[in-house]
Amino acid sequence: MTMDSQFRAGLVFHLTGRRADGGTAESTIAALRPALMARHRDLASLRYDFPVVLAGEGDDYVRPLSGLVDAALHAVAPAGAAGEARRRRALGIEREIRRLVAAGAEGTLSQLWDRAAGALAPASDTAFHRDARVLRDSLPADGPVADCDASLPARFLRHAWTAVQRDRARIAGERIGRLVIRLGEILRADRARSSEALVPPALQAGFGPAHHRMFDFDAMSRLLVRSGPRGGLCERRRRRVEEALAVLETQRFFARGADPKALPAHEFEFRSAAAALAAFRERLPEAARLLKALQVAELEVEGSYVEDVHDAIFASYGERSVTAEDLALFPDYLVCLEHGDPGAAGTLSEALSSGVPLKVVVQVADLVEESALGQGRFAFGVRAAQLAAAAMGLDDVFVLQTAASNLLQLRSRVERGLRYGGPALFSIYAAPAGGPLPAYLRTAAAMQSRAFPAFSYDPAAGADLAARFSLENNPQPESDWPVDDLEYADQELQAVKASIAFTFADFALCDGRLTEHFDVAPRALWTEGMIQAQEWLARPPQDPAGALPYVLAVDEADLLCRLVVDERLMRAALRCRDAWHRLQELAGIHDSHAARLIARERKAWEEEHRREAAAAPATAAAPATAAAAPQVAAEPVARAPAAAPAAAEADAARNPDEAYIETIRCSTCNECTQVNPRMFAYNENKQAYIADLKAGTYRQLVEAAESCQLSIIHPGKPWDAEEPGLDELLERAKPFA
Ligand code: SF4
Repeated sequence: MTMDSQFRAGLVFHLTGRRADGGTAESTIAALRPALMARHRDLASLRYDFPVVLAGEGDDYVRPLSGLVDAALHAVAPAGAAGEARRRRALGIEREIRRLVAAGAEGTLSQLWDRAAGALAPASDTAFHRDARVLRDSLPADGPVADCDASLPARFLRHAWTAVQRDRARIAGERIGRLVIRLGEILRADRARSSEALVPPALQAGFGPAHHRMFDFDAMSRLLVRSGPRGGLCERRRRRVEEALAVLETQRFFARGADPKALPAHEFEFRSAAAALAAFRERLPEAARLLKALQVAELEVEGSYVEDVHDAIFASYGERSVTAEDLALFPDYLVCLEHGDPGAAGTLSEALSSGVPLKVVVQVADLVEESALGQGRFAFGVRAAQLAAAAMGLDDVFVLQTAASNLLQLRSRVERGLRYGGPALFSIYAAPAGGPLPAYLRTAAAMQSRAFPAFSYDPAAGADLAARFSLENNPQPESDWPVDDLEYADQELQAVKASIAFTFADFALCDGRLTEHFDVAPRALWTEGMIQAQEWLARPPQDPAGALPYVLAVDEADLLCRLVVDERLMRAALRCRDAWHRLQELAGIHDSHAARLIARERKAWEEEHRREAAAAPATAAAPATAAAAPQVAAEPVARAPAAAPAAAEADAARNPDEAYIETIRCSTCNECTQVNPRMFAYNENKQAYIADLKAGTYRQLVEAAESCQLSIIHPGKPWDAEEPGLDELLERAKPFA
């Protein structure tokens, strides 16, 4: 094929998704991975966040395996050469556990530790196994080990929820137990003063058998009845105390007894939001009875129950009296759903808007969905994203969206949501099993590429959006796509370092079902007509045939290739970026209202100064010096605002070959930062400046100048004489000199 025909074939693929005869097989593309993932080829050998150990309470309820191994080493491996062998053995066992878990092994950390040690050294290697035992016994926590797979969202949240409920049950249990004892004491004391307690058999029962023959209990009874105290509890009070005690002793919301792991009689985990809501409503009268009993008991124990006041209050106490604060005493209801479950749609929004403290976990396993419009476009994560966005609109629902790979980082946010007094939604993406890449990488790619960004909405954090909404720990939140450095060897085996954005198209490459949207570009096509996906996304060409967008990928041998991306996927990437922009705005990043306000104020300011400049010659006619140099005096007034003399002087003194921005005039419209966020950046006033000229091409600089509506970007002269197309670019740069 000639180069022209290859380019035409590439264009046809980009525009229609149809490969030329003999094009790349989809199985070849399925074996590729985004170039930025080349460094993560052997995950088991990397010490990263996973697997985690589900153990402990409070901030430590989930801990990374590597952190626990470090803690054990800190405790029992001496610094320097003396501890070197033990350190090597510990890291070897850690690596083996990672391999075992990735292959599907299950168990607690101590079980997997022993298994890994057994796999690494024969039983005859006593030194190894002695060290392994010492290290295992020094691990600061134990519990089930969990990898970043499709089951993680439910496991993680269930574990966190259990820890929170245990905490709550302990507090409630202590309160109930204390009241049961005190009410029992009141009744016992009353009984001891009653006439039934003074009959001979009751008196005899109060002494041990050894004393039965020593006393005349009939005589004792006659004596005590005549001289003993009268009174005790009145009938109404005794009945009230007995009723409260009976409710406390038979309640079913909390386990009875001292075992902290004992379970309550009621179940609190449900398979659908509707079932949880129905259980809550059914139990509400019972909850009201318990709340009433607690309050009556506390008043009785303090001796402050006033019948004239409290009888009337408690007579009307029922389920309608239960407040949201009261519900904080009780366990919350946990619902774990697969995205797409019947309960994940209609009934879920009804349940969340009910104000009932449900904690709903929605596991999202699929972000790319064919839209009803068929071939014209496909949606990505639409329903999953709508769910979290709709829940935010309910105002008093705690919302957390994140990829499962990020759960460890957000563990305190998870705990905060579980402790929140109202309903909470946790929407968590975890890539399903299968595919050439580990689930952890595919899951992390969803967050990295903005396909499933992390964010939270916490109604308890404050009154306004700035306090409630957080973009959490998304990488480089100011940018459209996170950019990372990629180092590789070019055709001449020279080391090359390039800045590559991780876009939605890169995420799609990790999904084996989307290989049809990529085609390998032959080397001959690696020309100016191909542009990186992030450039295409920053400025989609007016003419769809104007440029071929590509992503960089590597094969099993880490050989770099370019993949042409079809337009359909690129359009989906644009929608992904637009959704990210909306989240950015909620977080106050690139706020369009603020940008408009700044632009309006700036325009007014410029018009004001233009008027002043126009008026200047008339007013300047009076001074005698004006006649000497009228044109020179007028010019600076028109070109530079009086408020920025330093900037004006700097502009005047500039080398005309040097690229610069009139930063003081920037209206923060994002055009240039979208062209290349490394080349252009914002200063502390949110106004653009050239951060790193060499971070991009002269072409990008000229394109940014052309897109700047205020024409304040001056490209100067190119710095790389080898850059293709310079003649044309210099022509285009002239208006901005
Ligand atoms: S394009 Fe111009 S106005 Fe917009 S951010 Fe860049 S420099 Fe500022």
